[in-house]
Amino acid sequence: MHATDIFAKHPTTFSFEFFPPKTEASSEALYGTISELEAYKPHFVSVTYGAGGSTRELTHDLVVKLKGQSSLDPIPHLTCVCHQENDIQEILDRYAEAGVSNILALGGDPPRGLDNYRKEDDAFQHAADLVRFIKKHADSGVHPDKRGFGIGVAGFPEGHPGTPNRIKEMDYLKAKVDEGADYIVTQLFFSNYAFLDFRDRCDLAGINIPIIAGIMPISTKSGMTRMADLSAGTNFPAKLLRALNRASDDEAVERVGIHYATEQCLDLLENDVQGIHFYTLNKSHATREIYANLGLKDTDGLE
Ligand SMILES: Cc1cc2nc3c(=O)[nH]c(=O)nc-3n(C[C@H](O)[C@H](O)[C@H](O)COP(=O)(O)OP(=O)(O)OC[C@H]3O[C@@H](n4cnc5c(N)ncnc54)[C@H](O)[C@@H]3O)c2cc1C
Repeated sequence: MHATDIFAKHPTTFSFEFFPPKTEASSEALYGTISELEAYKPHFVSVTYGAGGSTRELTHDLVVKLKGQSSLDPIPHLTCVCHQENDIQEILDRYAEAGVSNILALGGDPPRGLDNYRKEDDAFQHAADLVRFIKKHADSGVHPDKRGFGIGVAGFPEGHPGTPNRIKEMDYLKAKVDEGADYIVTQLFFSNYAFLDFRDRCDLAGINIPIIAGIMPISTKSGMTRMADLSAGTNFPAKLLRALNRASDDEAVERVGIHYATEQCLDLLENDVQGIHFYTLNKSHATREIYANLGLKDTDGLE
């Protein structure tokens, strides 16, 4: 379903993020997770996109499989990295022909291990340029929906490291919206104040599209360290760190992570959040526990 219709129909959306598996074992584990989470009837799921090479095809394969063989509505991520216009055109045509309704359009991070990568060689320098191109794809008539793809973009409540000037950063976010973005999904955060303030700043900047909160329940201390590296700028509040320090074993760490994320979700729902997007890390347990803690059997419970 086109993003505009999803958000018009549901005052609060629940969605999950997966990454494409690289091995047979991780693929099997992911399909187990998917079949468990399908019962929770998310309004959409999204599939991340690699920095280059063969993993990119895995995104396409997973999205098309979910579209054809599950009840889930998959949204592929797409980045500007290492792409020329004709690549993007082909990718969009394939997704349109498969009936995929929406794309999450991203700048993308520089690929690790690709020493000769030069951002200036990419056809699109910023996500806003990719949004413009995807928006224009509607004119090709390839997409069965005459509006073309619904388009999501990324938002950074605690700022993106590439733009230290937080006022300019809002201008850049607004540019993505002006080019035709239909919704924003945020980077993960552990401080709801940061999200709510970001939402207010978007409002002041004239950004009036749904802003979906990215939530990642911490499951292991090593995972948290990795995440701190990948989501540079994200703050880990003392309250969370103290609770994790008290946790005596892995199970206690996971329980703290689920409890903390539940509290975040409860507070966001009290504050009329337009959507909660779970970074599942291809596992179902934490998401299922949080649903239970929120009193939700599935998303029908929201309506
Ligand atoms: C929800 C979510 C999902 C993600 N999924 C993926 C994924 O699947 N694959 C992946 O590789 N990465 C993913 N990322 C990471 C993301 O690609 C990187 O964080 C990237 O650096 C920023 O992406 P963006 O779309 O905000 O890029 P952009 O909007 O292009 O912004 C990138 C930087 O450039 C600045 N900027 C924007 N416009 C201008 C301009 N005109 N002039 C100067 N500076 C400008 C911005 O302020 C920012 O600092 C995801 C991030 C989020 C929040």
